[in-house]
Amino acid sequence: MSNNVKRKEQIVTIDGPSGVGKSTISRRVAASLSFTYLDTGAMYRAVGLQLLNSRVDLGDETAVRECLQKISLELLPATTEDDEVTVLLAGEDVSVAIRSQEMSMIASKVSALPAVREKLTAMQQEIGKKGQIVAEGRDTGTVVFPDAAWKFYLDADPGERMRRRAAQMRLAGKEVDEEELLQMIIKRDHDDQARTIAPLCKAEDATVIDTSVLSIDEVAAKMLAGIEPTPQ
Ligand code: C5P
Repeated sequence: MSNNVKRKEQIVTIDGPSGVGKSTISRRVAASLSFTYLDTGAMYRAVGLQLLNSRVDLGDETAVRECLQKISLELLPATTEDDEVTVLLAGEDVSVAIRSQEMSMIASKVSALPAVREKLTAMQQEIGKKGQIVAEGRDTGTVVFPDAAWKFYLDADPGERMRRRAAQMRLAGKEVDEEELLQMIIKRDHDDQARTIAPLCKAEDATVIDTSVLSIDEVAAKMLAGIEPTPQ
């Protein structure tokens, strides 16, 4: 990549299925570059929670749009590289509530709705306008920031992704049913890949990295080796 990338195109996109290590790696890369980290998945989770709490019938597009019009969603940058972003819904901190397995499945469900994708894609593009961001998600390289200068697609074997997620959950003191977790991961990947709008897929110009046998440090180093931001 040329070392004279315009600031607004100084965007790193990191897409891939769930449990592939995207969040940790994205935060690491953003911190190394002093770029802003944009967790698009957190936005889909927050919208899922809002629609759930408001008891909106997901089949009723007008009701979904009305709910989205009123939504007040804010992302506050994490204080350290190890923290998740703080997510505020109408001023209330929902950062923990949106991270449950149930919310993962609900986020995946609402993310297939055109009204939800329109709203969040526009919000993400607004946040990315100034450039110098690391955007993480499913469609950041294909739909949200097609002109991003550096695009990556991370992948890993589903069994390995399940084991990593199980380890994170155990660390957080949660009980894990590995078979059930594996089935949820497979279903979420399938639904994310099969939806008609902005499905999970690799951008043509993305670099693919298989994280199954690489450490977080190794993946981050591989990515950073190809990124040359220019101060401007
Ligand atoms: O990345 P995370 O697991 O937090 O994402 C939750 C869900 O949000 C995903 O399973 C996917 O359905 C949806 N999502 C999306 N597009 C994005 C980011 C997340 O559809 N850019």
